[in-house]
Amino acid sequence: MDHFHYRNGQLMAENVPLEQIAAQVGTPVYVYSTATLKRHFRVFSEAFQGLDALVCFAVKANSNIAVLRVLAKAGAGADVVSLGELKRALKAGIPASKIAFAGVGKTKAEMAAALEAGIMQFNAESEAELETLNDVAASMDMVAPVSVRVNPDVDAKTHAKISTGKSENKFGIAWQKVDAVYARIGELANLKAVGVDLHIGSQLTDLAPFRLAFERVVGLVRDLRAKGHDIRHIDLGGGLGIPYDPDAETPPAPADYGAMIREVLGDMDCNIILEPGRLIAGNAGLLLTEMLYEKQGENRTFYILDAAMNDLSRPAMYDAYHAIVPVAEPSGDETLKADFVGPICESSDVFAKQRNTAPLKAGDLVAIKSAGAYGAVMASTYNSRPLVPEVLVDGDKVAVIRKRQSLDELLSLDEIPSWLSGD
Ligand SMILES: *Cc1c(COP(=O)(O)O)cnc(C)c1O
Repeated sequence: MDHFHYRNGQLMAENVPLEQIAAQVGTPVYVYSTATLKRHFRVFSEAFQGLDALVCFAVKANSNIAVLRVLAKAGAGADVVSLGELKRALKAGIPASKIAFAGVGKTKAEMAAALEAGIMQFNAESEAELETLNDVAASMDMVAPVSVRVNPDVDAKTHAKISTGKSENKFGIAWQKVDAVYARIGELANLKAVGVDLHIGSQLTDLAPFRLAFERVVGLVRDLRAKGHDIRHIDLGGGLGIPYDPDAETPPAPADYGAMIREVLGDMDCNIILEPGRLIAGNAGLLLTEMLYEKQGENRTFYILDAAMNDLSRPAMYDAYHAIVPVAEPSGDETLKADFVGPICESSDVFAKQRNTAPLKAGDLVAIKSAGAYGAVMASTYNSRPLVPEVLVDGDKVAVIRKRQSLDELLSLDEIPSWLSGD
């Protein structure tokens, strides 16, 4: 459910015509809907009513501070993976006591900053990291609350590049080692084991792998408690999928996911942490772009857009499907097949191949949907294309929440060394 709909023949973001945003801000531009963000957060949270649950938005999905602010006001915590994300979450008003710090490569500086801020927990991913965290905490005369990210070795049956819970992945600590790792934490004076954490992958469209992983974790927590570890938090990660292509996939509803968790973990007497990213932000955003040219190839029509793989890399990186719709509602039923492509000099700069679409012409505005998660955050300046702006809509209000990078800003980072200047 999102709040991007046609009204009077025009695609709207809530009460604002996208055409107006394109005229004001230019294209390409990311547009987010506040009502959609809030709705997704509410529906997801309601699935855990009655449980002691904390929803920590996975900041890596969309780290714009205004977006985080919307979620902070709705009561969200945050799952962060870098000092930059931690700072963004704090700046958005998410209390440190609701922030978990994940990631396989935390630096000492990041650990110190997170300890200083007083975060809820570190989700630790290796023994080496735990030793380092203990040293950093000792140097600050503090005790670091840790959850160990375990690798339950289940196949999430999702795209290989977003599957994380198999033993061959770099994430988490192997099942056979978990016991020893908690024992070691018990020996380290400046660490305290507070929980167990897992995250098996992203864009899962089936509950079965989740259930299998969660059942394994329940067994583990019982075991650890029997050995004297006071496990209070169980962090189940994120990963629940969303309908990118409503005709092709029907991911489980949050209510069913919540019911399954209640069944598996309901009597564990612990705080359950959830880290949805895509589910909250994915369908709350779109990439608004203008068609520059139509080009007839051999047996193919190319629609060349002003957005490219550097602005939205999911199709190039994961072969991801994104619905693409014209901003002006098509008046007739006529359709044809076209390839929607960007201007970058790579054959992977393709948003959709042989997609059914209403006929379009140069100058038409087009919306690439479901781009609110893993869109702007993964943008690059490849081909010296400046980072595109982000706009937030709330009812009939519109705000630029990240301005377009100027070419001057982009070029000003480079410097010619002294020995190369002059003739
Ligand atoms: C990426 C990630 C998430 C969020 O995943 P979604 O599929 O966007 O819900 C949550 N937790 C961890 C540890 C992650 O790496």
